[in-house]
Amino acid sequence: MEKILLHACCAPCASYPLLKLKQDNRQAVVFFYNPNIYPLKEYDIRRIELEKYCKKLGVEYLEGDYDTENYYSAVNGLEKEPEKGLRCDKCFYLRLLKTAQKARELNINSFTTTLSVSPHKNSKKIFEIGDMIAQQTGVEFLKYDFKKQDGFKISRQIAKENNMYFQTYCGCEFSIRNQFNKNTLTFKLFSNF
Ligand code: SF4
Repeated sequence: MEKILLHACCAPCASYPLLKLKQDNRQAVVFFYNPNIYPLKEYDIRRIELEKYCKKLGVEYLEGDYDTENYYSAVNGLEKEPEKGLRCDKCFYLRLLKTAQKARELNINSFTTTLSVSPHKNSKKIFEIGDMIAQQTGVEFLKYDFKKQDGFKISRQIAKENNMYFQTYCGCEFSIRNQFNKNTLTFKLFSNF
């Protein structure tokens, strides 16, 4: 079975990709590198949940640094961008580049990411960034669009069956703000009734 380094953002999002890669006869090594996640408490919850799930499946699990300064310098000036905007492209690039570098260090020939499982993420953009990094590093990027074939739905089912923690925002402090704005709007709408 050929190894692939799987960048993973959290346990619910990793659940279906791990199943799919196994079905495709690939041996996933999970890599948690997400310095975008804020605050540290949330980072630790997602990290521990993913590690626990990997242990349960007998999947190798690795962790990158929580080097938040790299995230903030990558998105500097883009704080007000909406989700799916330029800030997210920089965030994908940062995390996928580190994944490809880790794969090279470990002599793993390919990498991919769980990010494509989310319907809130633009897979085409993720693939463009993955391809660019593949050219820069010489590590093949496999274009898995995990949300396809009901991937997102299945990932949620697996997460529920395993009582996984579900986050309510993407990860960075700016996405908390978006979530807060949405909730405030919902509250305002409902308070009209
Ligand atoms: S919204 Fe999500 S993908 Fe975009 S910058 Fe924040 S953590 Fe990264």
